[in-house]
Amino acid sequence: MGRGVSSRQMLHAGPDGTTHETPLLSVSFHVPQEPSDTVKTGGAIFVDRDGVLNRFGSMKSANDVDRLAEPGAVESLVRLMKTTKLPVYVVTNQQGANKTGGRAKAEVALDRLAELIVANGGKFAAILYCPNRHFTPVPSGTVNGFKPGGGMFLEAAGQHNLDLSKSYMVGDSVKDMVAAKKAHPDIQTVLVKTGKAGQDDHLPHPPEAWEDNINTAVDWIIAQEAKLS
Ligand SMILES: [Mg+2]
Repeated sequence: MGRGVSSRQMLHAGPDGTTHETPLLSVSFHVPQEPSDTVKTGGAIFVDRDGVLNRFGSMKSANDVDRLAEPGAVESLVRLMKTTKLPVYVVTNQQGANKTGGRAKAEVALDRLAELIVANGGKFAAILYCPNRHFTPVPSGTVNGFKPGGGMFLEAAGQHNLDLSKSYMVGDSVKDMVAAKKAHPDIQTVLVKTGKAGQDDHLPHPPEAWEDNINTAVDWIIAQEAKLS
C-alpha cells in the first residue's frame, strides 16, 4: 500500500466574494516515518477537533458544527492564524468515515468548519482526517495516520515542507500528545482541559502547556511565538 492519501479541493465563498480553497486530506493508510528532507519552510500549528473545537459530543453534520462549537474557538483560531502567520492544520481521527456514507458525513462537517474559519477571515492550511477503524500494526518504515500514530503530522510536513521541530499541537486526549511527539519529539504539545482533558489514558510525558480551553491555548502559543521574534 502506498501513501494512501487522497485529497480534494473545497471551494468556499469568502466574505469578500472571492473563493477560498481548503485542501481536505484523507490520510487513510500509512505514511513514511520521516517527512520530506527538502528545505523546511517553518513551523505549523496542529489542532485536534473533537473535545477542542467542540467541548462535548462529536461534529457529525454541518448543523453540529454550529451547535457544538466551543465558544470563541473559530475567532481564536483566526486570531492565531493572523498573529503568528503560521499555517494551521486540523488533524482528526474519523473512524466513522469508514462506514457506508460516513466519508460524506465527515466531510460535510469538516467543510462547515473550514467555511466558518473563512467567514471570519482566516483559512486552514489543510484539514487532515484519518478514517482507519482502529490503530493497527503497520508495515516497517511507515506509521499510521490514526492518532496515536504520527502519520497525519508527517503527511502535512511532507506535503508542505513543514519543520515539525518548530510546531505545536493542541489536543484534549493523551492520543493527541503521543501522536505529536511520535511525529517529532520537539513538537510543543498543549493539552486542553475540555473534552477528554487528558483523562483517557496515562500521559507518558507532561505537555509543554496545560490550558483551560482552545482560547487560552491560542493565547499561550501566541506568547511563545512572540518570545521568538
Ligand atoms: Mg479530541
